[in-house]
Amino acid sequence: MQFAKIPDHYAFKNALIRMVATDKVAHAQLFIGPTGSANLALALAFATYLNCSSSKETDSCGNCFSCASMGKLTHPDLQLVFPKKTSSAILEPKSDGNYLEIFRNLVKKNPFLTLEEWATAMHFDRKQCQISKKEVGKIIQQLSLKPFMGPYKVVCIWLPEYLHHTAANALLKTLEEPPPYTVFLLIGCNSEKILPTIRSRAQHHVIPPFSEEAIEQIFRNIYSDLDGHRCKEIAFLAQGNLSKAFQLFEQNLEENFDYFSQWIRCCYSGNLIKLVAQSEIFYKLSIEAQKNFFTYALQMSRATLLGKFNDPLFQMGLPAETTFIKKFGLNVTINQLKEIITQLMQAYYYVERNGNAKMVYLHMSIQITNVFASV
Ligand SMILES: [Zn+2]
Repeated sequence: MQFAKIPDHYAFKNALIRMVATDKVAHAQLFIGPTGSANLALALAFATYLNCSSSKETDSCGNCFSCASMGKLTHPDLQLVFPKKTSSAILEPKSDGNYLEIFRNLVKKNPFLTLEEWATAMHFDRKQCQISKKEVGKIIQQLSLKPFMGPYKVVCIWLPEYLHHTAANALLKTLEEPPPYTVFLLIGCNSEKILPTIRSRAQHHVIPPFSEEAIEQIFRNIYSDLDGHRCKEIAFLAQGNLSKAFQLFEQNLEENFDYFSQWIRCCYSGNLIKLVAQSEIFYKLSIEAQKNFFTYALQMSRATLLGKFNDPLFQMGLPAETTFIKKFGLNVTINQLKEIITQLMQAYYYVERNGNAKMVYLHMSIQITNVFASV
């Protein structure tokens, strides 16, 4: 992974490069960014830069032996640590080697990998994930050896939120005083969920989510024949999560706007017969499609709210949606919008936790009908 392959984050990339140029590489660094952000990709690009034998001012060379093996994630001085399932499972791979091979392949394909995607690929529930004390023992043992190629030994711990407390305790001393030229890169999504003893020993970097413009640009670059409207819609729905954007790309999004506008009209006019019929259709959608509908509805409600405050952010470059939002904004108050957003968030929460989608949809729709009727 090279910095050039990661869009945005220019100032941060420069700051990382400056650390190497000035020989001020902190031995424990925490890359915190939301799901689907560039946190893992940036850490891997930094690891590549650290060991590149012909690094340039702005990036690693991409061609030397070190860069080539970092590209394959097989560099002998790179250790990859990630959450695994704690107990045995039917489809569990036979050995740690299999886990590593699958992880490498997934990250090579998608360096914006999410825990959900990792858990799905491994057929386990993300709640069962953990980084064990045994795993940490292996890191410490490896670090006692000299670098094979060097100059740095890099340990990437993906999602340190999942370090078991015994594992964290076993890691503390090495994290505080690692052997020379050892760098720990901890790549997490939520610093609050990382044990304070680990958190306090690392230099923090906050990685923001991708901007809508960056996601749109990425899709325009990768899929040059993709319809401009579709690029904008994907960027709008992905909410800064690039992994989510790629999932959305696989799905049929064209119906989202029609579906949403019909639904909100039914709520507004209190058409319960149509809402019941819609709940039957909604029930038959996949959970991902149901979640996408809520995400879309939330984004539209948020844009309407911004529009009411004349915030330029609401201009999203989608003509049909913008016209709808302007009209909708004239017929809804700020308090009603706040209540609609609350109801949508609640519905999302229940569907994500396997609530009965038909009931959730209908309950939410009736609540929103009442919100409109309350003027
Ligand atoms: Zn190189």
